[in-house]
Amino acid sequence: MDTLKDSIEFDHHIRIVPVENTSVGLKGYIAIHRKIEGQPSLGATRLWKYEKDSDALDDALRLAHLMSYKSMASGFSYGGAKATLIYPEGGIQDKHAYFKAYTNYVNELHGDFVTGSDVGMSPEDVQLMSSFSPYIVGSNVRSNYFTSLGVLYAIQVVLQDMFDSPDVSNRTFAIQGVGNTGSNLLRLLIKHGAKNIYISDINEEVLKKLQHEFPFLIIIPTQDIHKQKVDVFSPCALSHAINTKTIHELDCLAIVGSANNQLESRNMGDMLHEKGIIYVPDYIANSGGLISVADQYEHGEADDNRIVKKLDQLKSTVEDLILRRKKDKEVTHILADKMMEERLSALLN
Ligand code: NAD
Repeated sequence: MDTLKDSIEFDHHIRIVPVENTSVGLKGYIAIHRKIEGQPSLGATRLWKYEKDSDALDDALRLAHLMSYKSMASGFSYGGAKATLIYPEGGIQDKHAYFKAYTNYVNELHGDFVTGSDVGMSPEDVQLMSSFSPYIVGSNVRSNYFTSLGVLYAIQVVLQDMFDSPDVSNRTFAIQGVGNTGSNLLRLLIKHGAKNIYISDINEEVLKKLQHEFPFLIIIPTQDIHKQKVDVFSPCALSHAINTKTIHELDCLAIVGSANNQLESRNMGDMLHEKGIIYVPDYIANSGGLISVADQYEHGEADDNRIVKKLDQLKSTVEDLILRRKKDKEVTHILADKMMEERLSALLN
């Protein structure tokens, strides 16, 4: 665990559990960033082809930290956690044995860590894990939809600030990636009357289907979507949509999307601020997914009405952020981190 001290992602996490079972190809980490008394720490399990062991550890540390912030943004009192599993060379030979071995580690934490699925896990994997552990959540929840609904709410708050109205119908949007969350966002915007929408995706089939359903959509080549002159640019695909190249080509007033890690570096956030572009940090904009999964954890079964109500907390976090941006004249990504640290400290002290 020497690498732990070397990791730039280490933020005095309270617990790091290496998980390993060579006979089934299991290797990875569970990282718990903060633990609030009487509450589990929440965070999904990611299964990924990490090149190095230290990459998996860094990712677990970074994402657990982010989960603490996401939880604070959603008005919860859960600390953040994350597990990263290194996809074994040659694949997983026996999923049953693999997930049983992994959930043994989860069970040994006796509910201090509650987890679900992230990148690399299928709904079947979650079902399998649920059969071995009571600390698995996220099956039977429409988390994609609620992530998108949260993004819509964040967009409406930003529009209210910019145009004195949350109405999306006369505004313009560019959505990068129309997969699970991007397409849900698109449908929500259309349902609320939006007509001027540019979309891009590397999946031609998906684009064709959407344009057939909504002929007014304008399809843009993937390399040009961020350049559109729009009110809101929504990155809903990969990480680092805002990078050293795209930052100079943006022509939007605000950036609000579902993708994780939208900024290639923190410097990008400063540059957005200098350009006068309002950026709603990704972990706030996309926290609707966590809100829906936490609802299932808290009540055994997720309830759509309850989740929609809880999304108000996301909305008010964005409202606070926008207010403080004006008052403190500070960059939103730094301001948001400060707000989340304040909320965390209040719960930890
Ligand atoms: P998804 O895989 O369903 O959709 C992503 C879409 O982006 C796909 O249609 C893909 O073809 C497209 N795409 C890939 N590369 C592209 C490119 N260069 N340009 C344009 N489109 C491209 O994924 P998702 O579940 O919608 O998640 C999208 C992002 O949101 C990810 O960063 C994810 O981590 C994040 N996120 C998702 C959730 C959730 O509830 N699904 C919650 C929080 C954050």
